[in-house]
This record gives sequence, structure tokens and C-alpha cells, in this order.
Amino acid sequence: MRLGLLGGTFNPIHFGHLRAAEEIRENIDLDRITFIPSALPPHKKVEPPITAADRLEMARRAVADHPFFEVSEVEIKRPRLSYTVETLRYFQESVGAGTELFFIVGMDAFLEINTWKSYKELFRLSHFVVLTRPGSPDALKKFLTEHISSGYRHDPERKRYLHPELRAVFFQNVTPLDISSTKIRALVHEGRSIRYLTPRIVEEYIINKGIYK
Ligand code: ATP
Ligand code: MG
Repeated sequence: MRLGLLGGTFNPIHFGHLRAAEEIRENIDLDRITFIPSALPPHKKVEPPITAADRLEMARRAVADHPFFEVSEVEIKRPRLSYTVETLRYFQESVGAGTELFFIVGMDAFLEINTWKSYKELFRLSHFVVLTRPGSPDALKKFLTEHISSGYRHDPERKRYLHPELRAVFFQNVTPLDISSTKIRALVHEGRSIRYLTPRIVEEYIINKGIYK
């Protein structure tokens, strides 16, 4: 089994996340993708506050009609902020030996991954899928070999970077959708429409509960 993991604050989840996940699922042939809403780090706090339960519920509703998408509450249930390395260890232990993990991450986050806790270990625990935009791979390649490990080699046939000891790294272009949770929150706050930026069921949840007003 090939399991994709997509972390984020999902405040709220939107079509940028969902479409990227769907393209990655198809392109690298994943069996499932688990969305993992994080506890809110201090710099991500928004006013008025929105509960973790709401972010979780919106994510659940957004993926409910997809047979291969699911939502995990592992990070939200922890009493403190999670480090990715703990989350990957958790999944590695819980999924069993036959499952390969694919940690999906935006390009911006990837380029500062050397500041994350135990970042070298991340590349032992899981493959990485970096969401890229057309024309970006040069800086990524440089970063990978300079800051993660010089042992990564490009395998053009299989369109990935391979390493003798570490897991593979994939740079995957996805359709650029200029949607962000920040933008959605701002639109709601201004009393404007968010239709077609996020699934209808998420839009209704936000409006009915008066979130982000
Ligand atoms: P915010 O505006 O609050 O920062 P966001 O829209 O960036 O939120 P996050 O929850 O921070 O959403 O993102 C989770 C993951 O999804 C990250 O890896 C991020 O790079 C990726 N992502 C966010 N928006 C898009 C998008 N429009 N297209 C593709 N990937 C996205
Ligand atoms: Mg963001």
C-alpha cells in the first residue's frame, strides 16, 4: 500500500489542497491520501479564533465523497504542537511494514525543511513529494543535494531522486490554483462570496456557523 500524507492547518480546507492531492494521487499512484490538520501554531492564530474541531470537521466533510481520501486527527489530538518527525513515526508504526509513506509538502515548506526537528530522519521514514510549479526544479535540486544529502541522484526514467539509504524525493508539478485559506478567511470577513474556492459543503459549514466573520 502507498499512503500519501498531507499536513496543513486547513483553516479552511479548499480546492487548492484537494486538487493538488488528487493530481499527486494519480501521478504517483497512491492508494490513499490522509489529510492531517495540525494544531494551530502561534503564528497561525486568527481572530476570531476557530476551533480545531471546526477545521477537522470541514476537512472531513470536504473529503467525504472521495473514496481514497481520509482525515486523521492524530496531530489535533496531541496536547501540544506536533513535529512532523513524530507524526511520520506514528504513521510508520501504525500502518505496518507493507506500507510506504509519501509525505506531501509545498515547495516553500520544503525549502526550509532543514530547520525542522530531526529533519534527516524524515528522509528515512518517508518518501517526499514536493508540490512544484513549472520552472522551479533547479533551486529544489540544489537544495536537496546541498542541504539534505549529496547522495541524491536524479532518475529521469522514474522522474524522482533516488538515494542509496534515504527514501525517494519526487518533484511534482500540480495545476496552480491561486487559492489560499488566508484569502478565504479575508473574503468571509468582508462578507464576500467564497463559492468555487472550496467545496459547497465547506462553504455552507462556514456560513451556517458564522466562522471567520
Ligand atoms: P494559509 O493561507 O492559512 O497559510 P494555506 O492555504 O496555505 O493556508 P495550508 O493549510 O497552510 O493552506 O496548506 C497545507 C498544504 O497545502 C501546504 O503544503 C501548502 O503548500 C499546500 N497548499 C496550500 N494551498 C495550495 C494551493 N493553492 N495549491 C497547492 N497546494 C497548496
Ligand atoms: Mg500556507
